[in-house]
Amino acid sequence: MTDQTPPDFEQLRQQALRQPVSADHPVLELLNTVPHVNGRALDLWVSDRDVADWLLRHGWHDAAMVAAAGDRGLLAAARALRETVRRLVTQRKQGEALDLAELNALLAHGESHLELISDDSGTRVLRRRRVRAPLDLLVPVAEAAAELLAEGDFDLIRKCEDPTCTLWFYDRTKSHRRRWCSMAACGNRNKVAAFRQRRQR
Ligand SMILES: [Zn+2]
Repeated sequence: MTDQTPPDFEQLRQQALRQPVSADHPVLELLNTVPHVNGRALDLWVSDRDVADWLLRHGWHDAAMVAAAGDRGLLAAARALRETVRRLVTQRKQGEALDLAELNALLAHGESHLELISDDSGTRVLRRRRVRAPLDLLVPVAEAAAELLAEGDFDLIRKCEDPTCTLWFYDRTKSHRRRWCSMAACGNRNKVAAFRQRRQR
């Protein structure tokens, strides 16, 4: 491979996984698993295991729960949920009627029960058990999405202003003027472009 070869999909994916951009909301992190890189959509999930790893990394479940549920079919189900939530967030943002059937269908899987366990040090821990199948792993994500749609402040939930960027964020800055997914990526690029435009006038 020469230096001129564009980085391949897997390289870009690994790079994006190493440099996550904070959305400041767990449900918006879900949407942001498809960033646009070099002008094309890059799905950070390409296997069931990727989704399981994402659920672990973002603290949705612990390793024991993921192991108990298994991950077969998780990729397809998680991608479907992601695009449902993306459509709903966009509809909510644009003040349109929400198309809720798919989200509610997943929420209907949300049976759970409490379980009292003793951990390795003998401490009693109460935890909520709900996983019997891979799909159950996605229920808390769907519940958080439903809460966001019901209670989120959509003045502060925005897409990055860069028209080529697909990333969302919850603006938690004091001034509520966050415009970019990250300064390092879209912020600086757009500042430089605006500066050049001003100089050309
Ligand atoms: Zn951006």
